Amino acid sequence: MSELVIPAPALPTVPTSTGGRFPVRRVFCVGRNYAAHAREMGHDPDREPPFFFTKPADAVVVDGADTPYPSVTERLEHEVELVVAIGTGGSDITVDDALAHVWGYAVGIDLTRRDLQAEAKRLGRPWDTAKGFDASAPIGVLVPAGDVDPTAGAIVLRVNGELRQSGDLADQIWSVAETIAELARFVALEPGDLLMTGTPEGVGRLVRGDVLEGSIDGVGTLSTRIV
Ligand code: MN
Repeated sequence: MSELVIPAPALPTVPTSTGGRFPVRRVFCVGRNYAAHAREMGHDPDREPPFFFTKPADAVVVDGADTPYPSVTERLEHEVELVVAIGTGGSDITVDDALAHVWGYAVGIDLTRRDLQAEAKRLGRPWDTAKGFDASAPIGVLVPAGDVDPTAGAIVLRVNGELRQSGDLADQIWSVAETIAELARFVALEPGDLLMTGTPEGVGRLVRGDVLEGSIDGVGTLSTRIV
């Protein structure tokens, strides 16, 4: 076999409550999965099928590390989300079988360059630079699926101690199981894939120095500082 011509990139990993590390293959995200958030973004939250976008695997920020404020934006915003870690792959996954593919769950933040996203929407362009930038996915500790009920539980984000986002997983338009089954129609899911499942209302602006504390009942917490 031929040698690699440059060093292999480091494998991004997320810590687990079992003391291990979960290797990240891809990061998928769902848009507008809570009705109140869809409304605050100017959309009618009818039950249109979920839609997906992605972030690079190495966008994860883990172990409570600081998150650098990204370049080329005047409006960085927070979206606190339930993160699903796929442990068993598949390309034809039924809703009833979907949760059996989950290794675990964590709290995450879908950081967004909202100004670039608004421009992309206006011009009919992709969201990649608005959503898939470096360090755009702070993620907490993964908890094994058997310990978590992903169908209900308070999901909260505080910034500098002030409550910014407050919702409940029960308010997701598409459940975790339904979202996995839908995504698997478009791509063969593989072990290591992460899925960020959308944010409740209350998204808002971040500046350097802000301290973010996310929590989901039964899942855990996340903390990062924008620097
Ligand atoms: Mn989001």
